[in-house]
Amino acid sequence: MSTTTLPAYDDVVARYEPVIGLETHVELGTNTKMFCGCPTDFGGEPNTRVCPVCLGLPGSLPVANKAAIEATIRIGLALNCSIASWCRFARKNYFYPDMPKNFQISQYDEPLCVDGYLDVEVGGELVRIGIERVHLEEDTGKTLHVGGATGRIHGATESLVDYNRAGIPLVEIVTKPVPGTGALAPEVARAYVTELRDVIRSLGVSDVRMEEGSLRCDVNTSLNLPGQEWGTRTETKNVNSLRSVERAVRSEMLRQASVLDAGGRITQETRHFHEDTGDTTSGRSKETATDYRYFPEPDLVPLAPDAAWVAELKAALPELPRLHRRRLQEQWGLSDADMQSVLNAGAVELIEATVAAGATPAAARKWWLGELSRRANETGVELADVGATPAQVAELQGLVDAGKLNDKLARGVLEGVVAGEGSPTEIMTARGLEVVSDTGALTAAVDEAIAANPDIAEKIRSGKVAAAGALVGAVMKTTRGQADAKTVRELILSRLGA
Ligand SMILES: [Zn+2]
Repeated sequence: MSTTTLPAYDDVVARYEPVIGLETHVELGTNTKMFCGCPTDFGGEPNTRVCPVCLGLPGSLPVANKAAIEATIRIGLALNCSIASWCRFARKNYFYPDMPKNFQISQYDEPLCVDGYLDVEVGGELVRIGIERVHLEEDTGKTLHVGGATGRIHGATESLVDYNRAGIPLVEIVTKPVPGTGALAPEVARAYVTELRDVIRSLGVSDVRMEEGSLRCDVNTSLNLPGQEWGTRTETKNVNSLRSVERAVRSEMLRQASVLDAGGRITQETRHFHEDTGDTTSGRSKETATDYRYFPEPDLVPLAPDAAWVAELKAALPELPRLHRRRLQEQWGLSDADMQSVLNAGAVELIEATVAAGATPAAARKWWLGELSRRANETGVELADVGATPAQVAELQGLVDAGKLNDKLARGVLEGVVAGEGSPTEIMTARGLEVVSDTGALTAAVDEAIAANPDIAEKIRSGKVAAAGALVGAVMKTTRGQADAKTVRELILSRLGA
C-alpha cells in the first residue's frame, strides 16, 4: 500500500502528459498446440496434455502449426499490418519452472506482422492506435504456489507446476507508444483492449476470455512534462479485466505523478496490479535487463507465407466490428446513445440474431434490453446466458404480432422460456396464456361488467365513448389479462348501442 497521499487526477493531467502502450497476449483456439499434437482445451487434470515435444525432452522436434500461423496472419491483416514474406522463429532462453524446455520458441527481430493500426472510438472521437508488431510464440505452463494466504510464492509451503498450457499458440500484439490522449489515457487503453478483443472474436481464432487467461494484457505507462521527452515507463502485469486496464493506467499515472512531484525518478520496472485495492506494487526491475540470448530456432524452417495465400486470407476477412456496429446502428435506426446502451448491455449479437430470426429491430431491442436484461442482472449472468435464445425471442414476438399474446401474457410466456419449459408456442398452450378474442367467450364477461357499472354504462349510452376504457379494464381484470382488449371494446360499444 502507498503511504503517501496521491494527487488529484485532474491536477495530474493538467501538469503531465501520459504516454501509454499495450502488450496483449492472445491464446489461439487451435485444436492442437503450437509445435506438437497435444490438445489445447482449458482445464484438465494437471500434466495430462503433454508430450515429449512440449516437455522439451531430448531428441523431440517441433513442427509449426499451420492453423496458428494462418490465425496470426488474419489477426495481422485485420490490424492493417504488413505480413512478412519471410521470417523465422527465435529461441528465447530463460530459466523458469513454468518453461519446461528452459527456452521459449518466440519471434524476435523477424515478426510475422508489422506496422499496422487499430481505430477505436472514445467519447465519439476516433483514436488511431499504432500496432508495432504481431508475432507468434508458445505459452508457458502454470505455477501454483500453495500453503500461503495470497497464492504468491512468499509464504507458500510448496509450488506445483502444470504443463498443460505449455506450448499453446500465443499471439503477442504490441502497440506503438500512444501519446497525446491526456486525461482520456485510461479510457483509450480500455477501449483499445475492448476493440482488439472484438476484432479477434470476429475472426473466430480465440475465445478471448480475460477471466480464463486467453486474453492477457500488460500496460505500459509513463508521464512527462509538456514539451519534454517521454518519461521512464513502467509495465503493469496481471491486468485481468477490461475495467482493470483502465484502473491500472489511472493508478500508475497517479503514483508516478506523486513520485515526480516529490523530486524522485521513475524506475523502469514491471509492476503488479491488484484487483482488490486497484494499486500496483513493484515487481522486477528492468534496469538490469535479462539477456535472453535470442538466436534463430535451429529446429524449425523459416516461415515464408505465399503472397497469394495472404491475399486470399485478406479477401476473406469478416467485416470489422466497428464498421459492423455502425452498419447495424443505421439499419436499426438508433441514436448514438441508444446504440451505446445496446453495447453496454452486450446485446448487439443477440439483437442481430433475433432480427435475423424474423423480429423487427425495435421488438428485438425491447426484449433484450428490457425484460431479459432485468433477469440477467437479477441472476447475475451474462445476457447471452439468461436462458432465452434469439430464435425464441423472435417466436415470442411473432405471437404478440399475431394477436395471440399481449405484452403482459408474453412476459408470462418468457418466464416459462427462461425456466426451460419449451418453445413460446408450447408454453402459451401449456400455461393457457393465449389471448381470448372469441366474442362468444367474452360476451358474458362484458355483460357482467356493464351490470356492475350502471353509471359508466349510462355515460357510454349517452355518447361518452371515452368512458369505455373503465369497462375494458374491468373485463381485463375478470379475465386475468387474457381478453383481447380491442374485441372487448368493440363488444362494449355494440352492446350499449354507442
Ligand atoms: Zn505436446
